[in-house]
Amino acid sequence: MNVYDSDKLTDVLKVNLKMVETNDPQDADLLLLNTCSIREKAQEKVFHQLGRWKKIKDNKPDILIAVGGCVASQEGKSIKSRAPSVDIIFGPQTIHRIPKMIKELSLLDVKTAVDVSFPEIEKFDYLPTSDKKAPSAYLSIMEGCSKYCTFCVVPYTRGEEFNRRFDDIINEAMQLSTQGAREIVLLGQNVNAYKSNDYDGNPVGLSDLIRYISHIDGIDRIRYTTSHPIDFSQDLISEYKNPKLANNLHLPIQSGSDLILSKMKRKHTVLEYKSIIRKVREIRPDIHLSSDFIVGYPGESNYEFQKTLDFISELNFSDAYSFIYSPRPGTPAAQEFDSLSDKVKSDRLKELKDLIKNQSLSYSEKMVGKTERVLVEGVSLKRSTEVFGRTDNNKVINFSGDRELISKFVDVRIDEMRTNTLHGTYLNIS
Ligand code: SAH
Repeated sequence: MNVYDSDKLTDVLKVNLKMVETNDPQDADLLLLNTCSIREKAQEKVFHQLGRWKKIKDNKPDILIAVGGCVASQEGKSIKSRAPSVDIIFGPQTIHRIPKMIKELSLLDVKTAVDVSFPEIEKFDYLPTSDKKAPSAYLSIMEGCSKYCTFCVVPYTRGEEFNRRFDDIINEAMQLSTQGAREIVLLGQNVNAYKSNDYDGNPVGLSDLIRYISHIDGIDRIRYTTSHPIDFSQDLISEYKNPKLANNLHLPIQSGSDLILSKMKRKHTVLEYKSIIRKVREIRPDIHLSSDFIVGYPGESNYEFQKTLDFISELNFSDAYSFIYSPRPGTPAAQEFDSLSDKVKSDRLKELKDLIKNQSLSYSEKMVGKTERVLVEGVSLKRSTEVFGRTDNNKVINFSGDRELISKFVDVRIDEMRTNTLHGTYLNIS
């Protein structure tokens, strides 16, 4: 979501202020930091970066420093007390107002421009259409979250769930396809909570969006992220019959213990999660499943943690993101007594990561020898004679090939698995 927001920020500055991007901070008129506050570590990085930028501003006082995103939303004006050199503070829902804030600083006698409000859908009405040409394009369909899981800061920093209009989304998808996108990744904090009405006023959800977008010429693959188990409808499960819906499902669960899930206010049980996966696997037996896990939630006993490991062993994940619980300001869980030592937490994280790594490796090993349909996304970072892309089940693969292949779906035979990435041989255009 932040990558998407940063792209949108760039578009706004280009279109409204005719700014151009530079990778050299010394050369910039505006230094912009888009931030994440999901865990404390991400938040701390912000202040380290601002410290480095202060030195640049000391030598070039006219340079503007802007901080956006969820840390800005959470901290508001108080960012100034730790980083006085900051001129502009904006939230995830006010990125379209940046040009106005910059003008305020120069025209009015404003010292710091702050706007971390939630004007919701307004943002999408004012953001210019991107002219970015990429084989895989992000498309935001909803934002914010009204789930209020006890550990999570998102509802407070991005605001409550709000949906973009159905026809606006379809129009943007068509626009992206004319700009060369072959794959669309539907984005939102809870994409499967998406609710709107179609042209005739009929209610529509995520599955309808996927179906409509899969009929747009040129769009051959659709992904979505992130979904929540409680909004996983039968319609969405049935949509897995649609061959354009990618063959991986990222569905965060956080814990394999019902007790911890209820403490987290996730509002579903482990059995309900398993039932979703069972139904999806009935349609797509070979789907790659991934999830998010939090270890060391306040009150997580060894027994509860063991339940998470058992759950992972039973379900078999092709990938997962796992984190040590990080108390976030203003969340209910931050008030809970945390009895676990850092050592216990990091040991648990390691054990969980090792288990997932083994499962992930065996998923990849099973792919060796098979032919996969790959969307070529660019030249490999390590070797200029190679290109890389993603398989339908979201694994990255590198192979020798011409850059002419970028933006095309190609068949690639998987030859071997080298630390974390797959390598293969180009066969033909798919
Ligand atoms: N909307 C998704 C989660 C998005 S945040 C959902 O509700 O499932 C991405 C992941 O960050 C979460 O799934 C969770 O595993 C992790 N996360 C969120 N808050 C956290 C916290 N306070 N400490 C540690 N991990 C956290």
